[in-house]
Amino acid sequence: MSKFSEQPSQDAADDHVHEAAMRPLAPGLYLVATPIGNLEDITLRALRVLKSADRIACEDTRQTQKLLNYYGITTLTVSMHEHNEAERAVQLVDALKNGGRIAVVSDAGMPGISDPGTHLAQAAIAAGVPVYSVPGANAALNALVASGLDTQRFLFEGFLPAKMNARLTRLQALHASLTEPLTLVLYEAPHRIVETLADVAAVWGAGCRIVLARELTKLHEEFLRGTVDEVSGQLRERDRIRGEMVLLIEAQPASPDNAHLRSPLLERIAELEKTEGLKEMDALKHIARERGVSKSELYRELQRSSRPGGRSSGAKRP
Ligand code: SAM
Repeated sequence: MSKFSEQPSQDAADDHVHEAAMRPLAPGLYLVATPIGNLEDITLRALRVLKSADRIACEDTRQTQKLLNYYGITTLTVSMHEHNEAERAVQLVDALKNGGRIAVVSDAGMPGISDPGTHLAQAAIAAGVPVYSVPGANAALNALVASGLDTQRFLFEGFLPAKMNARLTRLQALHASLTEPLTLVLYEAPHRIVETLADVAAVWGAGCRIVLARELTKLHEEFLRGTVDEVSGQLRERDRIRGEMVLLIEAQPASPDNAHLRSPLLERIAELEKTEGLKEMDALKHIARERGVSKSELYRELQRSSRPGGRSSGAKRP
């Protein structure tokens, strides 16, 4: 093992914690995971790296300073966020090429996962600089393992587009792309979660199983488990929906024998027409009430679902 290597051999593992603490930090770029709520969720190695690095590139220096203060770390910080990552990367790679040791952290969790860090890692690799990941907390994986949903196959999508139409289109594209069931893992903001769940119901049906993991590792951590309808119902009963959240969806692929009815909205309309004898517009009103969304929102969804070769909508704009 080289004096400067960050990777000990398995045989040396027992002695490594002690040895590592004594060794100077090897030159290179360190992507360091930080807590997603509970300040204890940081590894001994992460603390050593943050302490020994020449500089810490932070998404928000004030946010990181709280963590550094808590652990008595005095390393200098420099800001690196989505708006300056490209130019900052040039400066930091210069320092790295001269043997620098740079740590990168985001506000919480793994840098590079729905956070800055990837561009700098790519630039460092292109410059031939060693890049190390220092593992730790990540909201998606922590939500997944405790969700009770399938962990064997999962797809991390991060944030969906914020705009309503683009969000639904993205979910429809994901649905159409699946060939096997898997757990879809999304980050979502509390003020959008109810709308997003309506879109999930539109794509996978109101009976699709989901888990909403809120405030992981924090005082008010909770897991809401159930169908989309059940979880939406629970959220609607609250005065305010708050906190950070991960949404996990038991996502089924579109079934090939009813591909022309891929939209659950069209399926539900057809069902209401058949069982209740409703006209299309009345069925739309009924479904809007069921889902707690506006008729015009549903109408837009209906227009998007009515494709050539599929069913055409005779509904007039409400
Ligand atoms: N890099 C981070 C990671 O590794 O998880 C994710 C950063 S992303 C900008 C922030 C989003 O992650 C939040 O909006 C929320 O969806 C999710 N998140 C972060 N912390 C969380 C927590 N404690 N509980 C639930 N979700 C969390």
